[in-house]
Amino acid sequence: MLDIKNLNKSYKMGDSSLHVLKGIDLFAKSGEMVAIMGSSGSGKSTLLNIIGILDEADSGDYVLDGVEIKDLNEKKAANYRNRFLGFVFQSFNLINYKNAMENVALPLYYQGLKRKERQEKAMFHLEKVGLAEWATHLPSELSGGQKQRVAIARALASEPKLLLADEPTGALDTATSHDIMQFLQQLNDEGKTILLVTHEEDIAKMCKRIVRLRDGVIIEDNVIKQVRA
Ligand code: ADP
Ligand code: MG
Repeated sequence: MLDIKNLNKSYKMGDSSLHVLKGIDLFAKSGEMVAIMGSSGSGKSTLLNIIGILDEADSGDYVLDGVEIKDLNEKKAANYRNRFLGFVFQSFNLINYKNAMENVALPLYYQGLKRKERQEKAMFHLEKVGLAEWATHLPSELSGGQKQRVAIARALASEPKLLLADEPTGALDTATSHDIMQFLQQLNDEGKTILLVTHEEDIAKMCKRIVRLRDGVIIEDNVIKQVRA
């Protein structure tokens, strides 16, 4: 599914540059649920953004689902993002003036689906996250957990092979975080490959594998032996 070798990334800052990812090797199979852990500033989001083709590495190899991701123009990058990837963010990133159903339907517009098809698919995925009754509500009328469920439905609507989540529980209370993680586990049980960034140990433990980053280097990569609650 994902094969990364010797990935490097620096940010230029005036005359100096900040070496953020220092030779990352990461391999993940289809069906995995991986937590990328590390303290703030360790390079987690940078890595996830490169995996999500939202940013580009300076050097190294990245193969996603058999496709080499390198020197893509914006159109190709957008096309791969649409076909392979779903994104969930800490701050939900919903569009405030669109209701839940419209938010979920939006990416389908870029896939060229007709309006009716978009709406049906959006409703299907809202139902899957347990929010069918909230379809016509605006984000401002939803709780944090509900907003994140809408965001997950939106990510799933394009049927991505890989779901990427950057601190998906970072803005939620403990109980709601647990709920969202259980839902992600359920998706993973159904076969969805998930890569999730977190700095919380409890959240990481709900995944099947923990990759620890420190200062741009992977310092640990462990399979979690656990029975899911
Ligand atoms: P994390 O997600 O683990 O907190 P990030 O990947 O966001 O870490 O950031 C890693 C380091 O790179 C931090 O020191 C951060 O300040 C820096 N950084 C991140 N994005 C940029 C950017 N666009 N320009 C310059 N520096 C950046
Ligand atoms: Mg981050």
